[in-house]
Amino acid sequence: MAEVLVYVDHVDGAVRKPTLELLTLARRIGDPVAVHLGPGADQAAATLGEYGAVKVLAAEAAEFDDYLVVPKVDALQAAYDAVSPAAVLVPSSAEGKEIAARLAVRIGSGIITDAVDLESGDEGPVATQSVFAAAFTTKSRVSKGTPVITVKPNSTAPEAAQAAGTVEQLAVSFGEKASGTKVVSRTPRESSGRPELTEAAIVVSGGRGVNGAENFHVIEELADSLGAAVGASRAAVDAGWYPHSNQVGQTGKTVSPQLYVATGISGAIQHRAGMQTSKTIVAINKDAEAPIFDLVDYGVVGDLFDVVPKLTEEVKTR
Ligand code: FAD
Repeated sequence: MAEVLVYVDHVDGAVRKPTLELLTLARRIGDPVAVHLGPGADQAAATLGEYGAVKVLAAEAAEFDDYLVVPKVDALQAAYDAVSPAAVLVPSSAEGKEIAARLAVRIGSGIITDAVDLESGDEGPVATQSVFAAAFTTKSRVSKGTPVITVKPNSTAPEAAQAAGTVEQLAVSFGEKASGTKVVSRTPRESSGRPELTEAAIVVSGGRGVNGAENFHVIEELADSLGAAVGASRAAVDAGWYPHSNQVGQTGKTVSPQLYVATGISGAIQHRAGMQTSKTIVAINKDAEAPIFDLVDYGVVGDLFDVVPKLTEEVKTR
């Protein structure tokens, strides 16, 4: 079977969920070969093997930390040259998309970004994309070179499938552009202790109906009782009630959790674009005519300041 390169997103060897999703999709089109750059390859290999990586190509170098994406592109290209894969899959993060685009240019291939599904086809892998604020679903394939495909987080549920996950060292020589842009400093954002929005299994979002930053604790308390991430509509973000990093929608993040709870959100198409692939959708809104109710599995017509605290108390008793 042809090999498929999977770029590993990890923090010091702790593999992040989008990579497990990529491995799951990669198995549909070939044998996944993971590319792990930076520290922790041995630790990561156990997880990568558990999700189907037949091999882990690992490289560690100060360049990956000190400089922006180009050293990583050099390494991914080295893996590409070593394997001659049938496709290259990269997570659809800001960094992932830049790495994928640069690789595609270098190897003279077509690229598909923000795929939400992947299947094998007679003429190569076929990717599904959700476009125009999720109004259409398209299927595309790359017609030139080796397909480079970025896949949105939460597009599929990771499925384990044990494979060897043998670590092999990847020889990388960095081009002169690798050190063109240096990282000057890194300031991690203060952690809320909640799951990452795009990776969370449950998301509770608040909109204009929350009516002020000082009221968002109502949403946070429900989120904490469920172990959920907190999202916000653009109206809540534009009003300065919640950070833009938590915005869900066309100009925010796309989430696809098992459960999405929309509170005080009307359900504009641009908001739907970021959440409508959620598995179960619940809305709490005092307007029975709000468009969000067209989309939901369960809807509660009521004042969120009445409903949400009761829901939080109920969840806490379970
Ligand atoms: P509203 O539409 O004002 O709805 C508030 C809802 O709260 C109403 O349905 C109301 O009945 C309900 N409500 C009020 N009080 C209560 C209460 N006490 N209890 C219960 N319910 C209550 N929007 C996004 O969200 N994400 C995006 O990424 C995004 N990108 C955009 C990109 C473009 C190019 C454009 C033009 C718009 C974009 N928007 C986006 C904005 C979008 O069109 C809507 O304006 C926005 O989603 C509305 O947010 P909302 O639902 O919180 O507010």
